[in-house]
Amino acid sequence: MLKAVIATNNKHKLEEIGQMLVDYNMEVLSMGAVGLEGLEIIEDGNSFEENAIIKAKTVMEKTGLLSIADDSGLEVEAIDNRPGIYSARFAGEEADDEANNQKLLSLLKDVPEEKRNARFVCAIAAVFPDGEALTVRGECPGRIGYQPEGTTGFGYDPLFIVPQLDRTFAELGSEAKNKISHRAVALEKLKIALKDRLGV
Ligand code: IMP
Repeated sequence: MLKAVIATNNKHKLEEIGQMLVDYNMEVLSMGAVGLEGLEIIEDGNSFEENAIIKAKTVMEKTGLLSIADDSGLEVEAIDNRPGIYSARFAGEEADDEANNQKLLSLLKDVPEEKRNARFVCAIAAVFPDGEALTVRGECPGRIGYQPEGTTGFGYDPLFIVPQLDRTFAELGSEAKNKISHRAVALEKLKIALKDRLGV
């Protein structure tokens, strides 16, 4: 059976990506299963795609197995698409979600609703044992609110309003969010790309 390592230390991502690969009759391995639990990889790329490739390539080189990694973040138009690839550490190296959200709100405090457009972006890279890499990108458009709303999810979810639903990701809950999120869109594309590449 074909094996694939999901190059993430995030349990939630492991499950989500692993679930998607069920269709391929593939053995999905965690970082722990290949002895790489807690491996720190320096993400010094200039784009979501570059960072996803860096992670997947590092793990492929250590294991010799097909490796899959993602990189994601939030782009806010009014502040030149920041925080972008720096989303996790927007308010500093040790910043938590709340500090990042507060920083974003303060930068946008004088920005009117029609200029608060944003998008979540997720790039997923698959690096094959022969070194070939493929990437896909999913985006989810939305708007940044004026205060946090909702309690589910993580990161910028309480500030990210889905315009058609007039609810934040944190108000929607994971089931509804996972149908429309940037990660869901990227995973759908990955499915198609892997099918092409693996001929299954
Ligand atoms: P990473 O892809 O795990 O490096 O995540 C980057 C950062 O982007 C996270 O720490 C969050 O701040 C933000 N982010 C990515 N995806 C989401 C999401 O679905 N909801 C909220 N924040 C997100």
